[in-house]
Amino acid sequence: METITRIHTMRERIAGWRRKNQSVALVPTMGNLHKGHVKLVARAQELADKVIVSAFVNPLQFGPNEDFDKYPRTFEHDTQALTRVNADAMFHPGAFEIYPMGHERSTLVDLPEISGILCGAYRAGHFTGVATVVTKLLNIVRPEVAVFGEKDYQQLVIVRRLVMDLCLPVEIEGVPTVRDHDGLALSSRNRFLSRGERNTAPKLYLALKAAQKRIQDGDTDYAAIQQNGMKTLEAAGFEPQYFAVRQANDLQPPRDSSRELIILVAAMLGKTRLIDNVQVAVVEKR
Ligand code: AMP
Repeated sequence: METITRIHTMRERIAGWRRKNQSVALVPTMGNLHKGHVKLVARAQELADKVIVSAFVNPLQFGPNEDFDKYPRTFEHDTQALTRVNADAMFHPGAFEIYPMGHERSTLVDLPEISGILCGAYRAGHFTGVATVVTKLLNIVRPEVAVFGEKDYQQLVIVRRLVMDLCLPVEIEGVPTVRDHDGLALSSRNRFLSRGERNTAPKLYLALKAAQKRIQDGDTDYAAIQQNGMKTLEAAGFEPQYFAVRQANDLQPPRDSSRELIILVAAMLGKTRLIDNVQVAVVEKR
C-alpha cells in the first residue's frame, strides 16, 4: 500500500493503471479510519480494480469555532489499516497541495438551498467546503466510482447533486452505516465522548428507530414525530439541533405522495456533535 502526497504522483500512478485498462474507485475520508471506512473500501474493491483512499482533514469544511485543530490525525494507524485491507494507495496531501493559494481564496462549489438546511443551518459554509474538496478530489483521481457512507446522508445527497449539476463522469455509491454493538454509528468523533456520554449516545439511534416504527405503523403526523424525537433526546441529556422527517431523495419535507423517507438527527452530547439517520419506506394504505 503506497502513500502518495503529491497530485502529480497520484496522476502518474493512475495513468499506469489506466494503461492496463484497470478501473479506479475513490473513497474520500478525513482519516482516523474505523470499521465504517473499511466497509467503504470493501465496497470500492467490489466495484473497481484499484482503490484509492484519500485522507485529508479539509480546513474549508470546518467553521471558526469547530474542531479542525482537535480532529484526530492518526497517520500510522490509517496506513496500517489500509495495508491490512489491501487498499492500493492512500492519497494524503498537505493543505498546500490542495489549496496552493490558501483555502480562504479557493474557487468554491456551492449548492444553493440544500447546503443551508439541516446540518447546513448549524454549520455555515460546511457543505460548500465538502462540495469543493470532493470536486477537487474527483478531478485529481477521475475515478469511475466514488464511495460514500450513508452515515453522512446530507453529504451523500449533496455529492450526488453536484455530480449531476456539473456533469462529472463518475458513479456515486452509498454504503449503509456501520454501527457499534449498541447501535451507535461509528464516527471519528465518538472518541471525544466521556464514559457517561458514551452510555447515553446510543439513545440517538433508539429515538430514530422509535420514529421509524411509528411511520412504518402508518403514522403520518410527521410534525408530532419530530417534536417527540426532540423531547426524547432532551430528556436523555442531549441538546438536539434537529430531528427531521424528509424525503430520502432530496431532503425536502414529505409530500402525500412521498414513499421513501429518511429521519435525520443532529444533537450535541456535551461538547460532541453527533449525527445519524434511518431510512423508512411508507407503506401504501389500503
Ligand atoms: P469521515 O472520515 O468521517 O469524513 O468519513 C469519510 C467517509 O466515511 C464518508 O463517506 C462517511 O459517510 C463514511 N463514514 C463515516 N462513518 C461511517 C459509518 N459509521 N458507516 C459507514 N460509513 C461511514
